[in-house]
Amino acid sequence: MIQNFDYHVPVKLVFGEGSINRAGEMAVQYGTRALIVTTGDYFVETGLVRRLQEILKNAGIDSLHYSDVDPNPLNTQIDAGAALAKKEGVDLFIGLGGGSAIDAAKGMAIVRGHERPIWDFCIGDDVAEITDKTFPIIAITTTSGTGSEATQWSVITNVETKEKPGIGCEYTFAKVAIVDPELMETMPREITASTGFDTLAHAIEAYTSTVATPVTDAMCEQSIRLVGRFLRRAVNDGSDREARNGMAYANTMSGFAIAVGVVTTCHGLGHAVGGVCGTVHGETLAAMTPQAMRYSMRALPDKFRNIGMFLRNEYANEGPDRLEDSVREVERLIADIGLDNGLASQGVKEGDLDLIADNTMRYMAFNLDIDMMNPTKEDLLGILRASM
Ligand code: NAD
Repeated sequence: MIQNFDYHVPVKLVFGEGSINRAGEMAVQYGTRALIVTTGDYFVETGLVRRLQEILKNAGIDSLHYSDVDPNPLNTQIDAGAALAKKEGVDLFIGLGGGSAIDAAKGMAIVRGHERPIWDFCIGDDVAEITDKTFPIIAITTTSGTGSEATQWSVITNVETKEKPGIGCEYTFAKVAIVDPELMETMPREITASTGFDTLAHAIEAYTSTVATPVTDAMCEQSIRLVGRFLRRAVNDGSDREARNGMAYANTMSGFAIAVGVVTTCHGLGHAVGGVCGTVHGETLAAMTPQAMRYSMRALPDKFRNIGMFLRNEYANEGPDRLEDSVREVERLIADIGLDNGLASQGVKEGDLDLIADNTMRYMAFNLDIDMMNPTKEDLLGILRASM
């Protein structure tokens, strides 16, 4: 019997090679003057920003470019981008890039609409409410990826406190998500690997969270199978179009899954590690996912034992220890894509672990609550130490 569930993700998805050419016809429905947000000037150098500006211009949309955004965007950068947008009369925000550019665009759309610093909306008892004053957002993803183009989440790092929460609500979904696998072909090997692993981590966590639904389960299964088929190929040959296409679709499925099924302990920890140590999101998840799976899997064996089977694209899960087999299949993939680096090699120090665990308990509590195991601080420290 299918359980009762709700699923609502109000994002128009435009998927496929060449779909960036439809950015103008989409944007014209939501604004007249756009701020294109990127992390740095890489896409200026490749000509992608100019190309997008032409596409928008042909549809009658004026645009400006803002590139002062770090991977793991900072609250101060979001406030500065929103101030520029106000001065320039911008009424539409376009994130062009990976999760960092898209999340920054979402943050700027919030600030522009409410005229308050982004951090007011992030952490604390008197956190401000995000309302329908939020300006419209279009997300054009160039990684596969964070799924940010499909989610309400915007992940923001506080430059002073080193906290990195995810915020979002019904008003922070992109109006349109453009997923064009051609844009992903320029991703170097390391970024293909780390963003591809993020896609897998989303699928594993949304599949095993307590708020999973039948429809998100189907998306997660599809995503894990696609990652199993295509991530190694995309890492080994970035010009493999079929692999890029498969990973772009896996990313989309995972994104639409985490908008409702959310993510659990490993992402909770991942945010806190990234906030304190400035690590690469997908690489950090790769260091911790096997240990986080080992920690949670006995609470939900029927699902965790499927993960190895999905990754191998099999349809039966017979065998002596399918739970440990699932973890080993994930570890094999991590090694094959060159992400077998523990947290210590990513710059995390033993002395950081206590703060990371505290931060996770404090501002990523929701992600812990929806993990079947509901971990304590000691449990988190156990996962962190085993992932060093
Ligand atoms: P990113 O956006 O930080 O980009 C990493 C680097 O890759 C940047 O230097 C960027 O310029 C470059 N890059 C991106 N696309 C490229 C391409 N096609 N060719 C060459 N270079 C390219 O990476 P990401 O992993 O996509 O995003 C990570 C951020 O997203 C983190 O802050 C993470 O916490 C957040 N995140 C958000 C969500 C969400 O739902 N909003 C989900 C997961 C993660």
